[in-house]
Amino acid sequence: MESKRRINTICVQGGYSPKNGEPRQVPIYQSTTFKYDTSEDMGKLFDLEASGYFYTRLQNPTNDLVASKICELEGGSAAMLTSSGQAASFFSIFNLANAGDHVVCSSAIYGGTFNLFAVTMKKMGIDFTFISPFSTEAEIDAAFRPNTKAVFGETISNPSLDVLDIELFAKTAHKHGVPFIIDNTFATPVNCRPIEWGADIVMHSTTKYIDGHGVSVGGVIVDAGNFDWMAHKDKFPGFCTPDESYHGITYATKFGNKGAFITKATAQLMRDFGAIQSPQHAFYINLGLESLHVRMERHCSNALKVAEYLSSNPKIDWVKYPSLKGDRCYELAQKYLPNGSCGVLAFGPKGGRKAAEKLMAALKVTAIETHVADARSCCLHPANATHRQLTDDQLRACGVTPELVRFSCGIEDANDLIEDLEQAIGKI
Ligand SMILES: *Cc1c(COP(=O)(O)O)cnc(C)c1O
Repeated sequence: MESKRRINTICVQGGYSPKNGEPRQVPIYQSTTFKYDTSEDMGKLFDLEASGYFYTRLQNPTNDLVASKICELEGGSAAMLTSSGQAASFFSIFNLANAGDHVVCSSAIYGGTFNLFAVTMKKMGIDFTFISPFSTEAEIDAAFRPNTKAVFGETISNPSLDVLDIELFAKTAHKHGVPFIIDNTFATPVNCRPIEWGADIVMHSTTKYIDGHGVSVGGVIVDAGNFDWMAHKDKFPGFCTPDESYHGITYATKFGNKGAFITKATAQLMRDFGAIQSPQHAFYINLGLESLHVRMERHCSNALKVAEYLSSNPKIDWVKYPSLKGDRCYELAQKYLPNGSCGVLAFGPKGGRKAAEKLMAALKVTAIETHVADARSCCLHPANATHRQLTDDQLRACGVTPELVRFSCGIEDANDLIEDLEQAIGKI
């Protein structure tokens, strides 16, 4: 694959190069199964001796074309689609950690990921230590244990909008002989390619900007292909010793550093858990990708205009947006996200919870939704929705103040978003 094409071209043309007379658009292989002439031909696929398709729970050509576009966008060596971002987070950890293992994780992560790790995966015997995204190298070091198998963080955290020092987290993970896994959902590969800063595994909820139209739930995992499993044999027996459930294959030797992670995740986790994307949804995801680079520019310029407007409004107490001058993460955003961060910002109106409620009820252009990163602007009041069961004190303890409004700027005209906010703020 030509890896030297620019991001804008890969968004449009990556992953699929039709030959003479073939369909111009990615075909939807709406088939659960694939036909073979002899049992021997099929046997080779089961033994992973030949590559090809036999059952869509494991692999499907449409899904693979779309995964390979995202792989090229991120600069990785292999990729797979999953049925959701949650499945991608789960697989990215469970592919390398077993019961009795431990993972170091930034505390600034999506709430669903936090629950998956801290509650559900804990029941499976995997322990997580959560550390501040602003940890120093010594503080990250201190979280490691002999059984630590990975470090996990988010490029831009949802909903706290902190930017992670990717280089520092990757370097520290490597010093301890483990891979660094990053959730790049909010930045997208258009604004940040974490592999260039040392990340080993990149995952996304494609449900957000990659789809971008609120159409399909999905996830993706991309392997950079740089982590040397055999150099850390004792930590990663799953990669470096024979898999008896797959004819004694040793993933790291048979598929090398570039193929081991995704092949193992497909052969073991997709086989057993079955969290596959549907080819129809992969097609929608690809339509989203075709305009991702154009949309991100508008999401980011709208968000910056809205953030600047809100921070100049005397009825607004505070604004959080990494690309806004004076933001706690401004310097990190300039380093890792120089062309823009994302379309999501958070703010707090003066007057607390009541003021937030009044303001949101008065909005006409921006809708109240449990969603972000959509072409249509939307907003959420966590204290009344995702965090509704918590008291004001509990809210503050988890960094969500009672007046916090999460505002996801779509790709409409920024003037309409600002005029709408102006009239709604007037009703406080
Ligand atoms: C939404 C989201 C997820 C979960 O993805 P789903 O597609 O909803 O399963 C994971 N990480 C981040 C940063 C998200 O915003």
